[in-house]
Amino acid sequence: MTRLIFLGAPGAGKGTQAQLLAQSCGIAHISTGDILRAEVKAQSELGLKARSNMDKGELVPDSLLLDMIRGRLSQADAVSAGWILDGFPRNVAQAEFLDRLLTDIGQKCDLAIDLHVPQERLVERLLNRATIQNRPDDTEEVIRRRLVVYEEQTAPLIDYYQLEGILRSVDGDRELAEVTHHLEALVK
Ligand code: AMP
Repeated sequence: MTRLIFLGAPGAGKGTQAQLLAQSCGIAHISTGDILRAEVKAQSELGLKARSNMDKGELVPDSLLLDMIRGRLSQADAVSAGWILDGFPRNVAQAEFLDRLLTDIGQKCDLAIDLHVPQERLVERLLNRATIQNRPDDTEEVIRRRLVVYEEQTAPLIDYYQLEGILRSVDGDRELAEVTHHLEALVK
């Protein structure tokens, strides 16, 4: 049973590595960004509420995510096999919510992994991804905003999980396969 939180700035390779690790460990990959993009595409009520914040590079309001996370972590696959949370929590309030939720549902997170990539490399990687994936939040202006939001709201979670004693830092500025290998060695 493995339960992991993936931290890391936009462009650190969090989504790719989380997906690979979830496959090799046979656990659920729960990406709040992917879930929100699917809701936007489906033009659901949630998607319509989330869209403008996402397009600007801002976080969507916590209230849109908390029930979703509670529901997803209670689904059979997540309960029986474990999970990787990719993109949640994104601020201290979400981390505190998650701690309470895990206590409520009798689960415990093993590790919070900070995939670290230097700031100047992030912009380069994100601009590169923009041309490949065509995400509407990958324009240069929005990219810079997402990095500021990360520094202000999400980076404090590194200290938060350090204090909980479950933080591990991994150098994400290496070949993809090398990073995957390091992550697998850490969790298996
Ligand atoms: P990501 O694919 O993880 O970079 O997420 C894309 C966008 O979805 C973010 O820029 C936010 O607007 C939104 N988002 C994803 N996860 C969260 C979260 N935990 N809290 C608030 N907004 C989120």
